Formats: sequence, structure tokens, C-alpha cells
Amino acid sequence: MTQFDLENLQREFETKTAWELLHWTVNTFGEKIAFANSFGVEDVVLMDVIAKVNWEIKIFTLDTGRLPQETYEVWEQLKGKYKMKIIPYFPDTSSVEKMLNEYGPNLFYKSIELRKLCCQIRKVEPLERALNGLEAWICGLRREQAITRSEIKKIEVDKMHKGILKICPLADWSERQIWDYIKENHIPYNTLHDKNYPSIGCAPCTRAIEPGEDIRAGRWWWELPENKECGLHGRK
Ligand code: SF4
Repeated sequence: MTQFDLENLQREFETKTAWELLHWTVNTFGEKIAFANSFGVEDVVLMDVIAKVNWEIKIFTLDTGRLPQETYEVWEQLKGKYKMKIIPYFPDTSSVEKMLNEYGPNLFYKSIELRKLCCQIRKVEPLERALNGLEAWICGLRREQAITRSEIKKIEVDKMHKGILKICPLADWSERQIWDYIKENHIPYNTLHDKNYPSIGCAPCTRAIEPGEDIRAGRWWWELPENKECGLHGRK
């Protein structure tokens, strides 16, 4: 795809709905797409949309081995409600063993480098395996979520992953829209959201936020906002 084609598509879909973008994605890439579901509020919305329209899309999740119990509970609930397969990708066992031997189980608090090493082994490498052979992937990023996400497009070339397309159907949705959709459609969601956890990742790297704090303030709270990405959504 040329830069010209990409920009035309970005312009065209900026004003279109999530349903229209997903429809185009399914028609264009067929089986060569997957939806990365990390059980956040955006992901449960996308799960519902995909299930209702009955699109056959590979759905996967990255089970880092350090997720909160509440995340496993919503995983079970979604599996029960929608009867759709959610394929888990787990970190490479020997890499985790080596990392824990060298740096201990709580290495992420010791330095940004070690935190990124943990994310690399538990998230980034499994994601690369999950995306292997695909032409596009769908995820629930929104511009409002973080300073690092404020300029995302609904369609991007993902240079971190062999130049396949990254599709963000909810990029322009507000938090209110997400919650309205969840409530109106009775979708299961992670109960940690009711305890002031607007953004949820691994248990040791996520805390509740205080009133007035940024919605990503509880993720890797000991780091500066500009460092707060795990390597799944970086830009080269
Ligand atoms: Fe490791 Fe924390 Fe990254 Fe999870 S979020 S992979 S526990 S550093």
C-alpha cells in the first residue's frame, strides 16, 4: 500500500462508524485478520460487535501469567456469553524462567529496562507469534486513553509488526460512548473498573487511580507518562 493509498483510506474512514470500518476490514482481508482482546472495556465492546454481526475473525488474547483474577473472570464470562473461541498466547516458558532466575519475579519495579524486558517476554514476543501470517489486526485503542495515543488513526501501518495494518475502530469513541454501549447491551466487563481501575493490565503493574488522575495513571505508576507503553503499540 502506498502512502497515498493509506492517507486516502485514513481520510475516508475517519468519518465512518466502527461497524463500517470492521466491515471493510473483513471484506478486504478475509481470514488474514485477528482481533487482539485484552478484556478492557473497548475490547468487550468490539467482542459484542463482532459476535452480533457474526464475522468469523480470529480472536486472541495475551495471557502474560500475571493478570488479575478479575480479568480471568471476564474472560470466562465472555466465552460463555458469545460461544466464540478466544485463543490464548502464553510467554515462552524458558524465557520467563531465565528472566526470573536472573532478575527475580518483581523485576519491573527495579528499572524501566527490566520492566520493558518483562513486557517484551510476556507480551511483545507472544503478540508477534499471534500476528504471524496476518495482514491486519484489530485492537481497541482510543485517542483519549493516553498522551501516547492521542494521534492514532483508525487505520495505520504497523511498522512494529512487518507493516501489516492496525485497525482501531473505536479510536474516536469517548469513554462515555464505551460505557453507554456496555450498559445498553449488557456486556460483561472487568469488575476492577468499578473499583477505580479505568485501565487494566498485569496485576503488579496496575493500581486504582485517585479522583482527578489521568485514566492511565494507574499503569506503571512509577514511570513517566511518555514511557507508559509496553511495546505492543509503539511507533518506529
Ligand atoms: Fe511484566 Fe508488568 Fe509488563 Fe505485565 S505489565 S508484562 S507484569 S512488566
